[in-house]
Amino acid sequence: MPLTFAGRAALLTSLVLALPLRAQRAGEGLQSAPITDVRYEVTADRAALAARRIHVATTFGVASAAPVVLSMPAWTPGAYEIANFARDVSGFSAKQGSDSLRWDKADYDTWRVWPKGPGQVTVSFDFAADTLDNAMAWTRPDFALFNGTNIFLYPEGRSTDFASTVAVKTEPEFLIATGMSRGTAPRTFKAANYHELVDMPFFVGQFDLDSAIVSGKTVRFATYPRGTFSPAARTTAWDQIKRSIPPEVLVFGEAPWESYDVMWITDSAGAGMSGLEHSNSHVDVSIPAGMGSEFQPRLFAHEIFHSWNVKRLRPADLVPYRYDRSQPTPWLWVSEGITDYYSDLAMVRGGIVDASGFYGLTSEKMNNIAQAPPFSVEDASLNAWIKVRDGTDALYYDKGSLAGFLLDIMIRDASDNHNSLDTVMRELYRTTYKQGRGFTADDWWGAVQRASNGRSYDDFKRRYVDGREPYPWTESLPVIGLRLQRDSVPRMGVGVTPLPDGGARVSQVVPDGAAAGAGVKEGDVITSVNGQPAVGMFFGTGMRTMYAGKPAGTPIPVAIRRGEEALTIQVPLRYGAAAPRVIEDAAASPRAVRLRNGLLHGTTTPK
Ligand SMILES: [Zn+2]
Repeated sequence: MPLTFAGRAALLTSLVLALPLRAQRAGEGLQSAPITDVRYEVTADRAALAARRIHVATTFGVASAAPVVLSMPAWTPGAYEIANFARDVSGFSAKQGSDSLRWDKADYDTWRVWPKGPGQVTVSFDFAADTLDNAMAWTRPDFALFNGTNIFLYPEGRSTDFASTVAVKTEPEFLIATGMSRGTAPRTFKAANYHELVDMPFFVGQFDLDSAIVSGKTVRFATYPRGTFSPAARTTAWDQIKRSIPPEVLVFGEAPWESYDVMWITDSAGAGMSGLEHSNSHVDVSIPAGMGSEFQPRLFAHEIFHSWNVKRLRPADLVPYRYDRSQPTPWLWVSEGITDYYSDLAMVRGGIVDASGFYGLTSEKMNNIAQAPPFSVEDASLNAWIKVRDGTDALYYDKGSLAGFLLDIMIRDASDNHNSLDTVMRELYRTTYKQGRGFTADDWWGAVQRASNGRSYDDFKRRYVDGREPYPWTESLPVIGLRLQRDSVPRMGVGVTPLPDGGARVSQVVPDGAAAGAGVKEGDVITSVNGQPAVGMFFGTGMRTMYAGKPAGTPIPVAIRRGEEALTIQVPLRYGAAAPRVIEDAAASPRAVRLRNGLLHGTTTPK
């Protein structure tokens, strides 16, 4: 966020000469006195939760009376937005023994404390935990979610390479779920450095928790509130988790964690469904209608794939993470988009969907892009931080996923199926992440070119990555025996927004469409179609499945809630052109089928 940065630079100019500057933090003048033996104590007992607060005490050693400068992160990696967690802090105090210490703020997210001399200092504050967001802190009377970025202070201008411990004070009957390593004392945890510390969100309270061995590692499933997943729904969720992990492990050749925590919150105050990735866990927040939806396994597969792609294999722009300001990169089309491509691949490779299900997911993304104005995936990646309002916000997911699909086809074509996009991901994981660095443009395109028998991607980059040209599906799909088909499908002529507890609110009525002619109005809530509840994902696909092939004009009974009124409107069945969809070409060559099977099954032709 440029304002933050410029503001700090101006504020601190006079100190720059007096204090040593660390190169990676240029622009900020303050450097904390060294602190040692850093311990965080988090109180999340019933009293704190009733007040929707978490109490945090940070204790550390100092060697002198030199000022200690402590900062709070401005954002949580993965959630690319400035959240300024310091705004949720209240009641800040600093003590050494029984003495209260002098303190002030050096910046809006930086506190400066003056110790009396060598010894042990404790700073404390309350943190308002009332925001339901994977990147933030949220409490209920029997539960807390918090992220380390929200509450753990770090010494300004010092290395992030300091070990620390976390002790959680809570009720004896409360559970704790986190990816963090256990300490020696009960309910204590330890982190080798600050990056690890703030990358391990916590659940504390009363929730369901069970575990299974998947790909030789322990996977835990923590869900709040208790009973939110029925036994049958839990079995389904576990099946999805167990099916999506092994194909992802195969891409990189290893599961990079000893244990992985899938952490799930169901609450009707959520906005749809979202997940936030961490190195060995992720947090999902879902409305009740999201549970059991077709999006649920895609969310699991996407977030878990991130534990390789972005948490470990990451663009150099994001290495190391900086917590004090935004960190834009043109590579989110790889970090998010290609992660989403591998989510689709995990679905088909793990048998959660069949091949036509995979083509359906791909078609849906093509359709989303076709409805947006032309944009480049690099620009959309950079725009993530400012949430543009030109209709392309967050579309680096879909278009980046399609770029991954295109590259996979091109690499398999150029190498005659001896290599694939998997080869590229595996090579970069080994040659950049495992060497302790992020990947550059040269690393990425070099790996793609090597996997493609030396084929140049300059033209591809110019047209489809930096440029805004539509993707060349009519050329590319036949290479793997696929083509686009346009169907005529039942069309009601409404846009709807699913409501958390069922029903679909009409957000748009297409003029001259079937629904408009029958009297459906914007703001109506469709509760059922021909007796079938209009729940979540059901509405569009369910209606089309029910009426496909029936004669035009067939009345469709649509039950509607309009304010206090309940009415049923007969909407005459009408057909319209569907968005093009990807299908298999029955006349595909044996080579095309071989490449296609390689892509769907995650295999290459042995060399
Ligand atoms: Zn993601």
